[in-house]
Amino acid sequence: MSDRVALIVAGGTGERFGGPVPKQYRLLAGMPVLRHTATRLLAHPAIDRVRVVVHPAHAPWAAQALDGLPVGEPIPGGATRQDSVRNGLEALAGAESPPTLVLIHDAARPLIDPGTVDRVIAALADHPGAVPGLPVADTLRRAGPDGQSAGTVDRAGLWRAQTPQGFRFAPILAAHRAQAGRALTDDAAVAEAAGLTVALVPGHGDLLKITTEEDLTLAARLLGGAAPDIRVGQGFDVHRFGPGDHVMLCGVAVPHGRGLLGHSDADVGLHALTDAILGAAADGDIGQHFPPSEPRWKGAASDRFLLHAVERAAAKGLRCVQADVTLICERPKIGPHRAAMTARLAGLLGLPVDRVGVKATTTERLGFAGREEGIAALASATLIGG
Ligand code: MG
Repeated sequence: MSDRVALIVAGGTGERFGGPVPKQYRLLAGMPVLRHTATRLLAHPAIDRVRVVVHPAHAPWAAQALDGLPVGEPIPGGATRQDSVRNGLEALAGAESPPTLVLIHDAARPLIDPGTVDRVIAALADHPGAVPGLPVADTLRRAGPDGQSAGTVDRAGLWRAQTPQGFRFAPILAAHRAQAGRALTDDAAVAEAAGLTVALVPGHGDLLKITTEEDLTLAARLLGGAAPDIRVGQGFDVHRFGPGDHVMLCGVAVPHGRGLLGHSDADVGLHALTDAILGAAADGDIGQHFPPSEPRWKGAASDRFLLHAVERAAAKGLRCVQADVTLICERPKIGPHRAAMTARLAGLLGLPVDRVGVKATTTERLGFAGREEGIAALASATLIGG
């Protein structure tokens, strides 16, 4: 049976990154970068073991980052990345059963995806080495010594290499032993210097190497993208019919033989939607923010309630991206006013009309709505954070 080992190289001192904590031990979404990397590789079904090469001076950080993960004892790194990889390979060679394949991966690439690992392993069936990467999309320019452009570099056929770089174990161990002391840029270069062929396979756009603070921010955003902060709220309201010649529904005055009773303008649609937004933001309800006991809300236009709820949500970093209202009544007929109501709600929420639903139904003449004693409204709203 083939034994596949992922060898994570975390030996770097992170001089380019600066700061007291090297990049592979910085927190990314609350977890050290190295722990993200190790966890993802451990979770891949085609990887049998994971080992980590660590700078001896980083042992306490490494112990914390790897706490509880089945990665064995950290392997001490060397003076250069190439030395660290060779140390790792020698440690694997000295083990009871050396692996068949080894995937050498940078600790600072935490967003390793299963597909890239699969493609690297698949290519090793036909080649002694395989490197994931992506074709260079940007135009490449050479910088001159005076800070001016010294011309365009043809990017045809150019890829930028990522990791994990996969190899059959015996030939890459021999290559690293033979090339020790030469400064080569990565393991594919070591393999090629030893005459091994290396296949190029597609990597992944998210597989960035964390080198700067901006990279750490970007990685956090990419991780966050997998779980957006989405809140859904619901609202319900009822108002009783009384004397009048129109009803306010979703901010639109609809002519009717009666009006709706209430302290404000009694717009059930806006009240239900205001509660949906407050609910999504976990921010109480309409009665709490606009108590009927306060004279200043007497006869108030209910669009003020909705706008206030939107502002309160915005203060929590939440914005409404979708709203849906259902009006429940026998009369007045909503159909002729639906477009005006949709446009009014969209305007109040700052949304395109195709993100606002206004619907109507009857209760088959059952209950208070069926007896035309009043109008009910249901609403839902979706807020997203960030
Ligand atoms: Mg109400």
